[in-house]
Amino acid sequence: MHLDLVDVLRCPAPHADGWLVCATTDTRGRILHEGWLGCPICQAQYPVRDGVVDMGEPIGSPSQAPPRDDDVVRLAAALDLVSPGRLVVLMGAWAAYAAALSTIVPVRLVCIDTMESVPEVDDIVIAQMRGASARSVARGQVDGIALDAAHATAMQRDAAVHALRAQGRLVLPATIAMPDGVTRLTGDDELHVGVRGAVESVPVSLARRRAP
Ligand SMILES: [Zn+2]
Repeated sequence: MHLDLVDVLRCPAPHADGWLVCATTDTRGRILHEGWLGCPICQAQYPVRDGVVDMGEPIGSPSQAPPRDDDVVRLAAALDLVSPGRLVVLMGAWAAYAAALSTIVPVRLVCIDTMESVPEVDDIVIAQMRGASARSVARGQVDGIALDAAHATAMQRDAAVHALRAQGRLVLPATIAMPDGVTRLTGDDELHVGVRGAVESVPVSLARRRAP
């Protein structure tokens, strides 16, 4: 995993939001190859082996047909990747698109339950994880999430809503309903795309206007 992504990863345990700390036994340039991520709140430790963060058993067994060029462009459009540096989560089969997507626009990628790991090099900002959900990414900071059929469970969709920023995009198989908080934008027989509505924030008390 690329060290630039440590800041956006979170412990998935149900407790207050907090950063993870990383300990390394093997880094190569900006890539954490072996080590672990630790949670200062609940003391959980998540090992990193061969660059992949291990958070448990992967869900389902995604099939990973090699992506076609037009599919990659379609995914970039669905996720609205119009400017560099966006933070994108690709789950299961979608992780196969990671390298190709990076050649279209430089994005920051979190890939979960990748079948074959993407080669990690300094100029592709990618974190690869297994057994995780979008709850392992900072709340309200993700620009786009693509869930494959194996990962479109109610739990994974809730996690996606938690992680998406307002106006962030969610790509789902067309047979799976958009979760509450996400409005369907467009779609076809295979996929549909939703957009996250306003994200709840801490209430702000308004100062009373002084009487004239
Ligand atoms: Zn924790």
